[in-house]
Amino acid sequence: MLLFVALFLLLPDSGQAKAAVKTSTSILLDGQTIPLQQKDKVEIINGSVMVPLRIIAENLGMGVIWNQKNSTITIPKEIGSVELTIGKPTAMVDGASQTLTTAPLNRNGTTLVPLRFISEAMGVGVTWDNSSKVVGLTSADLPQPSATPAPQPSAVPSASPGPSATAKPAGTATPAPTASPAAATPTPAAGTTAVKGLSFSDNRLMIALEGNVQPLIHTVNEPPQIVVELPRTAFAASFTTTMLWDSNTQSGQLAVAGNPYVSSVYYGVSNVDASTVLMTLELAASTAYTSYVEGDSGSSLFVVDLNSSSPEPTTVPPVNPGNGKKTIVIDAGHGDSDPGAIGVTGKQEKAFNLSLALKVEQLLLKEPAFNVVMTRSGDTYPSLNKRADIANELGADAFFSIHANKAPGKPNVRGTETYYYSKDSKALADVMHKHIQGATGFTDRKVKHNNYRVLTRSTMPATLMEIGFLSNATEEGILFSDEFQNRVAAAIVAGIKEYFGVS
Ligand SMILES: [Zn+2]
Repeated sequence: MLLFVALFLLLPDSGQAKAAVKTSTSILLDGQTIPLQQKDKVEIINGSVMVPLRIIAENLGMGVIWNQKNSTITIPKEIGSVELTIGKPTAMVDGASQTLTTAPLNRNGTTLVPLRFISEAMGVGVTWDNSSKVVGLTSADLPQPSATPAPQPSAVPSASPGPSATAKPAGTATPAPTASPAAATPTPAAGTTAVKGLSFSDNRLMIALEGNVQPLIHTVNEPPQIVVELPRTAFAASFTTTMLWDSNTQSGQLAVAGNPYVSSVYYGVSNVDASTVLMTLELAASTAYTSYVEGDSGSSLFVVDLNSSSPEPTTVPPVNPGNGKKTIVIDAGHGDSDPGAIGVTGKQEKAFNLSLALKVEQLLLKEPAFNVVMTRSGDTYPSLNKRADIANELGADAFFSIHANKAPGKPNVRGTETYYYSKDSKALADVMHKHIQGATGFTDRKVKHNNYRVLTRSTMPATLMEIGFLSNATEEGILFSDEFQNRVAAAIVAGIKEYFGVS
C-alpha cells in the first residue's frame, strides 16, 4: 500500500517536472531570476526572440500604461517615452520612429516584443542563450551584483547555461564559465579589431570587421569543419546584443537552414587565447573553399566562399577611403521556384533582377569606397527575412532590392517607380529614383511608400526599385537588353555614390 502511494505521488510529479524543463524559459536581470507567471513566456517568432514586456519594464522600475481602445502601450521614462502598438512593426522611442524586427503581439493578455527592441528602447544590455532558453538583461546604471550568489540552479533547472549544456564542435571555443552570469561582454580595447557582424548566405560566410586583422584559416576532417581564427580581435557590443550570445561561454551560434554544405556557424572567444576569436563552419562533408578580404583596415568583410566553381573574386586594393568603407547589400528579387512577374513573352522577372544585380555588383567591386554583398548570386531563393537579415547581421549601410513590375490586365501601364518604408530611407529612395528613372527614360511613376518585407525588416536605409513593367510589351523587350541593363546598373552605382557623398 505504501509503495502504491509512493508511486502515485511520484509519477505525475516527475512527469510534470520533465515537461517544465523542456519548455521553461527564464529571464535574468543583472544575474537575478525575474519571477515569471505561467503566461510570461519567451517565444521565438520569425527568428526574433520575443519577451514579455510588462514584467521586464516593471523590474526595470518602469510603469506600463495600456490603452485597450487602440491597443497601444506607453512606457514613460525619466526623459521621453516608449510607445508601441500591438501588430505594428514601428514604435516611437523618445519621439523618434523605430522599426521592430517583429511587431508586438498579444499572447493571452501578455504583450511580447523583440528582445532587441528592449535593448534599444530601454538602454539595457541583452543576451539570449538558445540552448538553455535564458534571456539575460544587464541594466547599465546598476552596479554589477558581484557579491550576490548566482541564481539557484534548483529553482530554475534550465537556467544553468554552461559548457556541458551545449554540445560544441571540437574546434570551437568553450571557455570556463565566468564567476558572474551577468559578466559584461568584452569591449574591444583600442587597437584591436572588432567583429561587427556575421552572416551566411549564398554559400558564403561573411564576417564584418572594424580594424586590421590577418585571419588564419584551416580545416578539420573529423568532424568536417572550416575554422577561422581572428587574432587580437573581440566581439563588438553591437554583435553580442543582436546575435545569439551566451555570456557565460562567450560564444554563440548562427543556425544555417537548408544549405547543402553548412549546418551552422559557431563563434566565440578562444579558450586558449582570450584575445582571439574563433568561427567554425560545421560542414556536411569536407568542402573546397576560397577566402578573401574585401575592404581595408577601416572596415572590411572577410569572406569564406564555398562556391568553389565560381571564379575567385578580386580583392579591391585599399585607396584611402577616409571614413571607412560602406557595406552595400544588393538583393536580386525572387529566385528559384519564385519567378516573380512573368513578361508578355514569358520572360521571368527573377532572371532580369539577377542579371542587373550582378552588373551592379561588378561595378561596385571597382569602387574603393564600398563593400558589396549579394543576397543571391545564382538562381536561389533566400527568404524575404533572410535577405534583410543578411544586411542587418552585417550592419550594412544600405540595402537595395532590384525588381521589375507587372500590372495584371493592364498592358499599357509602364514606367519606373522606387519604394521606401521607413522615413530614414526616403532620401535614399529619392536619390536612387532620380538616377534610375533618368537612365530608363521610362514614365516617371515617382517615389512611393510601401511595407515590403525586405524594407520593413531591414534596419538601415533601404529601397526597392521597380525598373520597368514586364507586363508592357515595349518595356519587356528593353528590360532584357544588355545595353539597357549596363546603363541602369551604372545609374544605380551613381545613385549610391551620390547618396554616400562619394565622388
Ligand atoms: Zn518583384
